Amino acid sequence: MTEIRDTVILGSGCAGLTAAIYTGRAGLNPLVLEGHEPGGQLSITTLVENFPGWPDGIQGPALIDNMKQQAARFGATFQQAQLAKVDLDVHPFRLQTSAGEICTRTLIVASGASARWLGIPSEQALIGHGVSSCATCDGFFFRGKEIAVVGGGDSAMEEALFLTRFATKVTLLHRRDAFRASKIMLERAIAHPNIVLRTNTVVEEVLGVEEKDVKGLRLRDVTNGQESILPVSGLFLGIGHVPNTKMLAGQVDLDEDGYIRTRDNVLTTHNGSLVHGVFACGDVQDRRYRQAITAAGTGCMAALEVEKFLEERGH
Ligand code: NAP
Repeated sequence: MTEIRDTVILGSGCAGLTAAIYTGRAGLNPLVLEGHEPGGQLSITTLVENFPGWPDGIQGPALIDNMKQQAARFGATFQQAQLAKVDLDVHPFRLQTSAGEICTRTLIVASGASARWLGIPSEQALIGHGVSSCATCDGFFFRGKEIAVVGGGDSAMEEALFLTRFATKVTLLHRRDAFRASKIMLERAIAHPNIVLRTNTVVEEVLGVEEKDVKGLRLRDVTNGQESILPVSGLFLGIGHVPNTKMLAGQVDLDEDGYIRTRDNVLTTHNGSLVHGVFACGDVQDRRYRQAITAAGTGCMAALEVEKFLEERGH
């Protein structure tokens, strides 16, 4: 007989780890499936300046590591596995994971969101050969080179600023002339001597597919259709994220972009009715705030819902 767990948490970012701290502290021995990006988005970011309690900021990976240690102290266990399949109609839920079958009374979905790509063939062909979505992972390879970053939000600003540590020039390309980024981040980028902002510009092609190495970008000015070549050695995407919900399609309600629709913030639904015992938290259900602190907050809420759910059923 497979052991029936009280709770399993999908994802090990800020939301999943907060849920693990709370459910661990409640004595529920949570199992965290770490997913394909262990630690989530914070683990590939740099300085986090707005997480309360760290007046001088804290490095994203260090913050995640602290949370993981805190969860482990309360009995959370971690498995490097991903959910392949689950049938939410049968309770307790049976999860098919890359590490085998798991049975659980409750499920916390904290699978987050992953980097979005432009989706053009030349970009896809050159991922890992000069095209990247992670400045902190790959910036080092561009020491002394000229590169480009695409996007107009905080991620793009953060990437561009971080990449100035290595690159001699960073061209920030944005498809509109208005920015989504916060004022403080945009001002920092504008003020940086090695960052050049180019608005109303889209990437039509990444050059260098034959050579298997980025040689430049073919750009188009959207106001007049004029094309130009920007010689760069690297391209970084900072154009947002897509929620990791493929494995739940058809079992919980998703919005048009794949985010989990919730009721009362963390309760999941299917065809408008509650899916009892399944709770969603963090970026996988949040298209509006998407902050580390809000992810942590909803992780806490999901954990409290799990406690209430199990208590009501006498567990
Ligand atoms: P975002 O705010 O959604 O911005 C995505 C940007 O990429 C937008 O400017 C968008 O253009 C552009 N974009 C999207 N798809 C594109 C495409 N196919 N081609 C070209 N451009 C495309 O995402 P984000 O920057 O990742 O930020 C997400 C959240 O995390 C935000 O709440 C942000 O404040 C937060 N964050 C905070 C920090 C920080 O405070 N240090 C750092 C990173 C992220 P349009 O504007 O035209 O839609």
